[in-house]
Amino acid sequence: MGELKFRAVRSLQILDSRGYPTLQVQLEDEAGRVFEASAPAGASTGAHEAVELRDGGAAWSGRGVGQAVAAVAGEVSTLLLSRPWVSLAELDTALCALDGTENKSRLGANSIVAVSIAAARAFAAKSGKPLHTWLADVAGTDQRMPVPHFNVLNGGEHAANELAFQEFMIAPVGAGTYAEALEWGSDVYHALAGVLRVRGLATGLGDEGGYAPEISSPEEALNLIMSAIDASGHAPGEAGIMIALDPAANSFFVDGAYRFNDRVLTPEQMTDYYGTLLDSYPIRSLEDPLAEDDAASWPGLVGRLGGRAQIVGDDLFVTQAARVREGVEKGSATSVLIKPNQVGTVTETLETMAVAAAGGFTAMVSHRSGETLDSFVADLTVGSGCGQLKAGAPARGERLAKYNRLLEIADSFPALPFGLAAGAGHR
Ligand code: PGA
Ligand code: ZN
Repeated sequence: MGELKFRAVRSLQILDSRGYPTLQVQLEDEAGRVFEASAPAGASTGAHEAVELRDGGAAWSGRGVGQAVAAVAGEVSTLLLSRPWVSLAELDTALCALDGTENKSRLGANSIVAVSIAAARAFAAKSGKPLHTWLADVAGTDQRMPVPHFNVLNGGEHAANELAFQEFMIAPVGAGTYAEALEWGSDVYHALAGVLRVRGLATGLGDEGGYAPEISSPEEALNLIMSAIDASGHAPGEAGIMIALDPAANSFFVDGAYRFNDRVLTPEQMTDYYGTLLDSYPIRSLEDPLAEDDAASWPGLVGRLGGRAQIVGDDLFVTQAARVREGVEKGSATSVLIKPNQVGTVTETLETMAVAAAGGFTAMVSHRSGETLDSFVADLTVGSGCGQLKAGAPARGERLAKYNRLLEIADSFPALPFGLAAGAGHR
């Protein structure tokens, strides 16, 4: 494949979809081609995520990324320009060594993820292949178009309403193609606006583009979504549209109990409660149903509900291979959420997906609630073949950057299979 040489590294503070600073990086190769990437940012973050480098102080509410920009323009640039690179794995390993910390806190996971993604684009271009195909070659995976999981109703840390559960997603699993799934998702999204208006509820949006009406109970949210599916003319269930939840239970686990609405539930009672939701609604996936600090209760939930729905660890695993390996051993989940900036580099992200696949877990690739127009996660989803992506509602530019990128890929590669994968995508 030959070596990759860079001749310039640039970094810039830009704003993300929430209006907070984030980092954009540009790498220029010796042929003068420029590869760009931007770091996303979470709001409901896991305690063990790789750490963003933020300036603190009064400016930008402490969220400036001037130090991260300077780190990329300084130390990281010196490293990248110092020698030719034979592989992304080599470059990512050198980035981690330069950082020198366990959690990327010195250079910042925001700096590192942007550099790693831009470098992945440079390596893909050098190979002459589209990014998704190059990623599949590196990972040894079969490419697949994913079922999009559209977050149409927002609560938790992503909205100002009283709804404790963070994400109510619709998954058009019964669609025949990705393009059809996007159309069905858009139909339900717009039907939901109509359902809300008829009930006198607000149609303002949360951070991920879903509606954020003034409701408080999960059942109210689920009933609104069922009405919207019905009004859209599509069918609920496996031949049509399924539902996926990310309660993000960390945010309502206080003093050893799950507290929302008037409920105060033990882990066992919380598990029972999810069982009743699975009885009543076509729910296919439950992400972070319990808190990361309640890790001991996850295997019990998997034992009782794991045969009925996919149990996804997000804050529990934070895209880190060692944590997923432990989860596989303990039976803490059946699936892992994949967010490259939770671990830092593209290479580590692919390793985590390989560990998940080897352990029989499925995987779902994810955006963050704070996003840019960077569409890397779309290519990662296709390349890894994991069959599932969540990137917010089918609305707002930073969300559509991902969904529209998938349309481009589907249009250029019509033979790619579509739909859920049996595992995390590995051969
Ligand atoms: P975040 O939330 O991007 O705000 O961390 C997304 C999620 O919990 O899945
Ligand atoms: Zn989550």
